[in-house]
Amino acid sequence: MTALEPTGRLQPYGIMVADDTARVFDAIARHGGRARYVGGIVRDALLKRDLIDVDIACDLLPEETRNALEKVGIRVIPTGLKHGTITAITDAGAYEITTLRVDVQTNGRHAEVAFTDSWLADAKRRDFTFNAIYCDPDGTVYDPFDGETDLREGRVRFIGVAEDRIAEDYLRILRFFRFQAWFGRPPVDPIGAEACRKGAQGLIDISAERIRDEMFKLLRSKSPAGTVGDMIGFSILPVILPQLARTDCLRIMQWLDSTALADPAITPDPLRRLAALFVTGDNGTDDNLAAAERLARQLRLSNEQTDRFASMVAHAPLIDPGLSGEDIRRDLYRMGADAFRDAVLLAWSTRASVPPRCSRTENEEWKSLIDAAANWQPVRLPIQGRDILSAGLVPAGPRIGELLKQAEEYWLDRGFQPDQEELMTYLASLISAGEQETE
Ligand code: ATP
Ligand code: MG
Repeated sequence: MTALEPTGRLQPYGIMVADDTARVFDAIARHGGRARYVGGIVRDALLKRDLIDVDIACDLLPEETRNALEKVGIRVIPTGLKHGTITAITDAGAYEITTLRVDVQTNGRHAEVAFTDSWLADAKRRDFTFNAIYCDPDGTVYDPFDGETDLREGRVRFIGVAEDRIAEDYLRILRFFRFQAWFGRPPVDPIGAEACRKGAQGLIDISAERIRDEMFKLLRSKSPAGTVGDMIGFSILPVILPQLARTDCLRIMQWLDSTALADPAITPDPLRRLAALFVTGDNGTDDNLAAAERLARQLRLSNEQTDRFASMVAHAPLIDPGLSGEDIRRDLYRMGADAFRDAVLLAWSTRASVPPRCSRTENEEWKSLIDAAANWQPVRLPIQGRDILSAGLVPAGPRIGELLKQAEEYWLDRGFQPDQEELMTYLASLISAGEQETE
């Protein structure tokens, strides 16, 4: 039997009821094809979450789907023709449309695929039961492996024999834990997790970019620390990222960034959470920075991400809940509110995760650092090099930079109060004092 039997209904909403979505489905139907939602959008609709990415399965060949859509003026990008995927672009969003297919040959990383007209065969090649639920545009649900029950009960369950499915594609190990973090209820499914442990060496051949993307997706879930702990316990992380060996700081970080602090500038952030996984209470600072840069390279982080990551790791040990108001202002001025906030959260997580942990008063002190970042108004030194030059204090040259630094120190020491006039007077007095000395 290759057709699927309806198993239930859901009420379409969000992008499912957009006019553009109807145009996509109509175009395919007019061409004699049949299309259904599948994967993330159905899973998320069953949980009534926001619907973002639209995955569609379709029984037309990719070129046919493309023609059907282009004929009615829908833009198509041939994103993965070889694997049967095209992307339709409309004002309402993007639609990943994949022809029904089976994997005919796999090597743990890539699959050679063949197209099929069997919906069941297409379902069987998918990874987890709740990722193989299909849904017609009208909301009729087809759930061949009872993924809905698994979803409701928080169970991430492989379709078929977990070990075999992992050997076909080792990335599924990371997907297993990512979905566990998002939809699973502890404890993790022992059959799946054991199969992941057995297959873990296969992750060595998975590209750094895919590992990074999966880790970031996992770290975006509300409370990933438990699952990361499972990944350590089932010997997954030691294969790919052995430097991430403890979850105690991450536990505090996830509590701070998603529950404890009602600051709109603070939301779960994968890079900050990665830093919390990486920095533990007992790392030495210099080694830490070098290791942070190695980790950033290993995960192919962008330059911007690398700088941010290194800055957190470098600054966190310097942040102390007892910092004076003046020190806080100096840090905020030099680092900017965002980097300061990152460093405070990382320092706080680190400190709170090791005995004697944080007292209520200390937590209040940490909180006041976060408040200082929220209230910070960026300020700029009121003079520039050209002011010094045009006042004729010194000729052009390196001395200008030195004077600017001295003016900045003077200005910082006085709580950003001195204005341009006062700073110029100060510099003039410095210069004449210097001249008197050399006379
Ligand atoms: P999200 O988009 O939220 O990351 P998703 O489940 O939609 O989650 P996608 O990567 O968009 O994930 O893939 C869409 C569907 O394709 C999945 O739901 C699953 O059915 C199938 N799929 C994706 N990757 C794999 C894989 N490595 N092995 C088997 N099936 C997969
Ligand atoms: Mg998706």
